[in-house]
Amino acid sequence: MNGSRWSIRGRLTIWNTVILTVLFGIVCLALLSAIHGHLSYIADQSTVEELQELVEELRTINDDQTLVTQLTPRYSVHSHYHFQIVNSHGHTLFRSRFLSLVQLPQPESVAEFRGTQFENVDLGPLGMFRLVSTAVRNSRSEPLLLQVITPRAALKQEFGWYVGTLLWAFPLVVLLSLITGYLLARQALLPLQRMAKAAERISAERLDERLAVTNPNDELGRLARTLNQMFDRIRTSVDQIRQFTADAAHELRSPIAALRARSEIALRMPRSTDEYQSVVQETLDETNRMSALVDQLLMLSRHDSGQPSVRFDELPVDQLLLDVIDRFRSVAEERQQDLRIGPLPAWTISGDDIWLSQLFWNLLDNAGKYTPHGKAIEITAQIVGEQWCCSIRDSGIGIAAEHLPRIFDRFYRVDNSRTRSTGGTGLGLTICQSIVQAHGGTITATSQENVGSTFTVSLPGHPSTHDTALGEEDHASPQAASEA
Ligand code: ADP
Repeated sequence: MNGSRWSIRGRLTIWNTVILTVLFGIVCLALLSAIHGHLSYIADQSTVEELQELVEELRTINDDQTLVTQLTPRYSVHSHYHFQIVNSHGHTLFRSRFLSLVQLPQPESVAEFRGTQFENVDLGPLGMFRLVSTAVRNSRSEPLLLQVITPRAALKQEFGWYVGTLLWAFPLVVLLSLITGYLLARQALLPLQRMAKAAERISAERLDERLAVTNPNDELGRLARTLNQMFDRIRTSVDQIRQFTADAAHELRSPIAALRARSEIALRMPRSTDEYQSVVQETLDETNRMSALVDQLLMLSRHDSGQPSVRFDELPVDQLLLDVIDRFRSVAEERQQDLRIGPLPAWTISGDDIWLSQLFWNLLDNAGKYTPHGKAIEITAQIVGEQWCCSIRDSGIGIAAEHLPRIFDRFYRVDNSRTRSTGGTGLGLTICQSIVQAHGGTITATSQENVGSTFTVSLPGHPSTHDTALGEEDHASPQAASEA
């Protein structure tokens, strides 16, 4: 029997029936054993009571002959019991006629036998009998043994009645436990069925619906809550995907439309070589921008699917930052921005040099884009606990407090017109955050409008032993840093 083929309701019903039946069986056995003990006790007691008269009589008899002559006419045949009297020498003085054919077990010494003893004896074809042996003394205080047997048939019959009654009750109990088990299982699983139906209704188009939580404290209430939380997460993800797809389509549509318009205009009439060259150059610039955008989208989607293509090598992150600063230097010089490089303590992290270079480049590029000509950009780092905290501080336009919490969102731009003109896609900081998260770090931003912004990246790792280009004590000029 394959368990998985059975429904939970079926399994609960069967379990309920099996457990109740076994319990009923155990109770029946205990009950029958108690009944049997009680019936035996009552039978023994009634035999003892019936013998009391005989025992009293034996106490008045003073010799064996008198005993035989007194008892033989009255007790040779008795409807309830048969008995024999044995003297201290082991001679049987009297025995009921019934006992003339059978031999009853006797104690080793009648003289030393005391009290009353009960035992069952098997008299072969005559059946099972209860034997009561009791020590008696005659009027001369001579010890005698009185042995009485009574048939067990009556007791057996009465006990059989109890067994029969309970056996009759057995199938009834099995049937009742089947019915109650089925009803209970149905009742218990009803809310689960309702929940399954409600969950079936919730699809991508109806993600706002939620399961009803009737009792938040019971197991089903907790299950409904957990499922609702899962639906919340699914809805957030689906919303994000929809938003991302819409934004990505929008971002790609504008440059494609611009390219098409420019190409169409260029083809309307014959142009000079210079004009064609200019159109081709514009087309190339726009395609480069789109290609960069597609690369960024790819990187983000890889990160979303949990497989960012990050290689983990041991890297001196301070050196890597200096390399990026070096590349950025020409851009800063062009804008006459003052690059100030503070202490960069030597630090090794496990990470991907391409992605980390991209991270620092994005931050420096933003700082450069949003800082007016002639103003300063400062890059410093310090070790805080197990983290290397690098800050890129500019003295640019800053970010208003209402925008600050959203700048890491996808496609979020503080000022669309301005950032488009600077070639931004609104994905730069999102990518920075993804890279930092993939390296187990954090990125935060603080800003004040018209004063400047500071982006701080914290990366886990350990202090390096390599020679640092710019240690705690060095406050090198850009030139010095680049030479280092
Ligand atoms: P973009 O690629 O358009 O620059 P980012 O994700 O890098 O997009 O930045 C999001 C927005 O945050 C930008 O549109 C810009 O308005 C703002 N921003 C980013 N860095 C700075 C900064 N250093 N100073 C002022 N504003 C910034």
